[in-house]
Amino acid sequence: VLLLSRSTYDCSYIRETEDRGTSGKIDNNDIVKIIIIFVFFFFFFLMIRRPPRSTLFPYTTLFRSQLKLAQENLEMRVKKRTHELIRAKEEADNANKSKSEFLARMSHELRTPLNAVLGFGQLLQMDDDNLNDEQRVAIEHILIGGRHLLQLINEVLDIARVDAGEMELIIETAPLNDVMDTALLLIRPLALNQGVTLNTPSLTPDCCVRADLQRLVQVLVNLFSNAVKYNRKGGEVTVDCAVVMRDNGGSRKRMLHIAVTDTGIGIREEDYDKVFEPFQRFTLQAENIEGTGVGLSISKKMVELMGGYIGFESQYETGSTFWVELPFDETGT
Ligand code: ADP
Repeated sequence: VLLLSRSTYDCSYIRETEDRGTSGKIDNNDIVKIIIIFVFFFFFFLMIRRPPRSTLFPYTTLFRSQLKLAQENLEMRVKKRTHELIRAKEEADNANKSKSEFLARMSHELRTPLNAVLGFGQLLQMDDDNLNDEQRVAIEHILIGGRHLLQLINEVLDIARVDAGEMELIIETAPLNDVMDTALLLIRPLALNQGVTLNTPSLTPDCCVRADLQRLVQVLVNLFSNAVKYNRKGGEVTVDCAVVMRDNGGSRKRMLHIAVTDTGIGIREEDYDKVFEPFQRFTLQAENIEGTGVGLSISKKMVELMGGYIGFESQYETGSTFWVELPFDETGT
């Protein structure tokens, strides 16, 4: 800046030399000034130029390459793990399918001879006049055992079918009155036998759900029979129905909520998670009650296949409420 000001100041000198008739000529002094100004600007620009990042942080490049390497390594490991997981899942699926096929075949093979045992047992029972007391008791044992085994086989077959994706449901308009009547008809003798009162709901006649009729009856019979079996003598079972609204991926849909409340033994909180798992039976009392431990797990699979939900609330030694929700049929009459 000083040099510049000096050069401006020195204009008087130029003017003087012009006066002296030497205008237009550049002398050595001017050249030196120009060079000084040039050098000054050169260094000035060099100073204000932004230094490269690598000069400021000499390790940045190194860090960056290390980070990239780590990232690539991580990606490779994630890919490898994902691949391993997919393979493990495929293996598990195959094993599960084989298990289901085995169960389905075994159940089928067992059912034929078992039906023969039950059939001949019933024939023997019919010939009552020629039987003594001991034989009567023995035949009763054969029939009770045979029926229990047949129920177990049928339920295992159902589970295997659902697991193998071979359970075919016929979803149709199911009038709730009909379904409820059939299920209650099947359960009344058991309730009578156990001294349990059945309080049934009053339904609107045009109330329909979208469901497989036969399977829905099976689910309700399972819930009703549990409510009776795991009740106390002189207890009550109350069936309630209500239409409720549920979220359905952004929209709201109507569902029919059927609740079965009993005044029975209830379920302990630590057993809640296992209620819908197959072959799980709880409480000491349940050991003495006939059952296979499969009914609820099948019911859950069926209800879900029908687009519904199943659940329960329970208080140990007070009672339980098991409920199912099924899509309400808007077109049903
Ligand atoms: P099952 O009745 O043939 O044993 P489920 O799958 O229907 O099989 O039920 C599984 C278990 O859940 C039962 O063994 C019983 O311990 C318990 N459970 C089911 N329903 C009730 C109920 N209403 N009250 C108390 N316990 C129940």
